[in-house]
Amino acid sequence: MSSRRRFLKNTVFSGLTFCSCEMLGTAVAQTRDLGGSDYGNDPTLNFRHPLAGTKRAPTIIDGKKVKTIDVHAHCFFQEAVALAGTGTYVNGAVKGGPQHYISFTNDDVIKDRLASMDAMGIDMQVLSINTYWYRKDRELATEICRINNDNLAKLCAAYPTRFNAFGCLAMQFPDLAVKQLEAIMKTPGMKGAAIQANVAGIEFSDPMFDPIWAKGQELGAAFFIHPQSTPELAKRFKGNGWMSNVIGNPLDTTIALQHLIYEGTLERFPQIKFIAAHGGGFLGSYAPRMDYSCFISPSNCNTSVVLKKKPTEYLRQLYFDTLVFTPEALRHLANQVGTSQLMIGTDQPIPWSLDPVGHIMETQLTNKERIALLSANAQRVLNIRNL
Ligand SMILES: [Zn+2]
Repeated sequence: MSSRRRFLKNTVFSGLTFCSCEMLGTAVAQTRDLGGSDYGNDPTLNFRHPLAGTKRAPTIIDGKKVKTIDVHAHCFFQEAVALAGTGTYVNGAVKGGPQHYISFTNDDVIKDRLASMDAMGIDMQVLSINTYWYRKDRELATEICRINNDNLAKLCAAYPTRFNAFGCLAMQFPDLAVKQLEAIMKTPGMKGAAIQANVAGIEFSDPMFDPIWAKGQELGAAFFIHPQSTPELAKRFKGNGWMSNVIGNPLDTTIALQHLIYEGTLERFPQIKFIAAHGGGFLGSYAPRMDYSCFISPSNCNTSVVLKKKPTEYLRQLYFDTLVFTPEALRHLANQVGTSQLMIGTDQPIPWSLDPVGHIMETQLTNKERIALLSANAQRVLNIRNL
């Protein structure tokens, strides 16, 4: 393990406080009146990368500098959150919560974000906004998405070599989402859409979403799937340890992906680009069990769904971020899904991963594979030319 990575690990787990409100600037020093309920909107949850203010040394592979792209990084815009109204759940009480809010009138948060990226050696982030509008009516969902997409476009235009983005869709109204996706894909810097792992309990394999997948496939859009726990299990997740996140989030993604495989969505849309957060949850760790289920229990399988491949083979139609914490876990994920399917994910500004480049460099991979994970896969899949 590199001394830099060891320093970051020790620093994170030592419980040291890295930052103060003075360091973070006035933009995030006070709790804002947001409308929607953001439990992370608390100045005691301010987080700044411990090495912010320094630049990670360039990553050199085979004598060449390799650029890096992070496809899992979050933000919020206050205007849209406020519009969602009181009672709307926006975000959990997480470190880095206040650093989600990007403002164009006070650029302290953007400067802080860029400093974190420089400290981690991340050249570009493809930003996404976790959804909080899937239960809103058509008019309100339209407006929330419009505000978010306009601001994301503005941010991409202001920092074209540092930020690209996944736009927002009102998925509960597929006809509207198709139009929104068309507009997003005409906007410089926008690479597709960020979606939750289901739409108010409806799985993505439901045919109501087929027009969105068809349009995405036609336009080459990517869909970044990001979980928001598994609320059906809230009672069992109670207690110490934040199980609603550590189990609920990976499980939410796993369920979404398994439906896409088992119900034949990936069979019907072979060119679609789904990128799964957190290394795809538990799917990559335990995928082969899928291949046995319909043999072991035929009565639980629908003969009208015809899969031409084994369920595990569809993993190679999906893309995954690298947010799986250890080189062993990343190597296993790569074995399951292929190194052509992996891209950096940091979850910034939430500090799950402080040395994402070191994570890849310390994993048993060839140099060509490392370059693929650091940026080449994201460039290819998201058609990024402004790095
Ligand atoms: Zn995330």
